Amino acid sequence: MRKLAAHYIFSIVAEPVRNGIITLSDEGEILHISQGSGNLQEEEGVEFYSGVLVPGFVNAHCHLELSHLKNQIAKGTGLPQFFRKIVGLRDKFSPGQILQAAALADAQMHAGGTSVVADISNTGTTFLLKKNSKIRYHTFIEKLCWREEDLSATVQSAKDLVHEAHAIGIPATPAPHAPYSCLPELLQALSSMAGAGGLMSVHHQEAPGEKEMFAGRGGALQDLYVAAGMTSVPDGSRTSTQYLTGYLPRDLRILLIHNTLCTEPDYEVAAAYWKNLSWVLCPSSNRYIENRLPPVEMLRKKKANIAIGTDSLSSNTGLQVVDELKVLQQNFPYISLQECLTWATLNGAKALGVDAQFGSFEVGKQPGVVLLEKLNLQQLSLTPTTTSTRLL
Ligand SMILES: [Zn+2]
Repeated sequence: MRKLAAHYIFSIVAEPVRNGIITLSDEGEILHISQGSGNLQEEEGVEFYSGVLVPGFVNAHCHLELSHLKNQIAKGTGLPQFFRKIVGLRDKFSPGQILQAAALADAQMHAGGTSVVADISNTGTTFLLKKNSKIRYHTFIEKLCWREEDLSATVQSAKDLVHEAHAIGIPATPAPHAPYSCLPELLQALSSMAGAGGLMSVHHQEAPGEKEMFAGRGGALQDLYVAAGMTSVPDGSRTSTQYLTGYLPRDLRILLIHNTLCTEPDYEVAAAYWKNLSWVLCPSSNRYIENRLPPVEMLRKKKANIAIGTDSLSSNTGLQVVDELKVLQQNFPYISLQECLTWATLNGAKALGVDAQFGSFEVGKQPGVVLLEKLNLQQLSLTPTTTSTRLL
């Protein structure tokens, strides 16, 4: 048994407890949370930490297998140019280099307090790494296809990879990349593989080019795909959100990723259609690629289930969830630490259906314990130097 104490404990499901003590079993199961009296720093059997204790983070969007692309792509290029760079770098790294970078990223995420990751895989490179990790992963087998002639091979490859993941013993479901890169038939095929109530994620409203393309105005993103063989381009009759609701079933448990350009009407289309819907924000990546931030205020107003992702090291300088929260608190200082932390823990756990074990300090859960240091404890806010470290 361990007793951990700090200036504050954020259980997430209740108000922060000042001078809180959290009692855990040797296995890390939460047994009790209480408010201490007297000087906890000198209380026998209590480990006191200066700062705030929070449950392990849930990173709701990552691409572990792109970890070797750290510092390889310039900031602020916009999405079409970003994709060109990714494709250009594809054959420059050996499988060993890719795996080594992914292993380092996995270890750093765990040490920084991430307990659960929803991770995109386009290949099986990181499957074994994820199986053996201390982090709980859900793997999204991501596919994209914009040419009819590639469809059956793409669907077969998704089936093969899901099979391979399950054979290794890691949870995995198929996921389309984005509305602009997936034929209707691919959306339908991946949906039927996911099955009723299946977990799926899709990049959504992430760049101006996506809006332009679906408005029938062409643009740089469409030019990229036409140059790569796309023959059927959107006719302007529906938005990218309406395209997704047209082909993905409403009983999916779905994570919409980025949403940088998502407007209130777009939100309404998605929210009226999917009942089990989460909005994953990756603010550092949005700033890196597009120099934009997602519509945080609109999503809050709508009481959306907001979760937090880091995206990959190809468009971020690190994979620590706390760094995403710092960006949000710097730009939206009126959002409380409690609310930010809820997005980064319980909301992500709910999005992935793992909230029985993760996402909050509640008796019986085993979410992991993370120490946040160098906060502003008077205002209970993050500072630019706040760090996160796993204690358990
Ligand atoms: Zn992504």
